[in-house]
Amino acid sequence: MRKAFLKKAQGTLTTWKDQVLKQLNAEVKEGREAALDEGMDTYDLASEERSREINLILSDRDREKLLAIEEALDRIRNGSYGMCDMCEEEIATERLEALPFTRLCVSCQSDLEKEAKQHRRGDEDRGQRRTSLVDLDDDNL
Ligand SMILES: [Zn+2]
Repeated sequence: MRKAFLKKAQGTLTTWKDQVLKQLNAEVKEGREAALDEGMDTYDLASEERSREINLILSDRDREKLLAIEEALDRIRNGSYGMCDMCEEEIATERLEALPFTRLCVSCQSDLEKEAKQHRRGDEDRGQRRTSLVDLDDDNL
């Protein structure tokens, strides 16, 4: 892996991580304020306690995302970034650019997805409904 590429991936991942954490902090703060309404500063909490609290609030999906980001950052640090977990081939850079925390190459990922589909039917509902402009019947006047 090229250094410049790794640096860029690291930047992207760090930004994402910050965003997730910022969002969570806001949620934690809100929860606190609702719970004990004492003007206590959430940001003063020891980070260990805060991360424990964050863990309670995190949905599985958020936790997975955060974990994936952390792991990707670890892999950048220890030099194993960009290798497929399953076949140990290098993951295409375009794929890494689109999905910086992916651990699988395209073919392993699609194998996995095929398998997952056999287990449960995907019921994705991505239908976007566009409200069409109301047709004007200009028969007035
Ligand atoms: Zn693979």
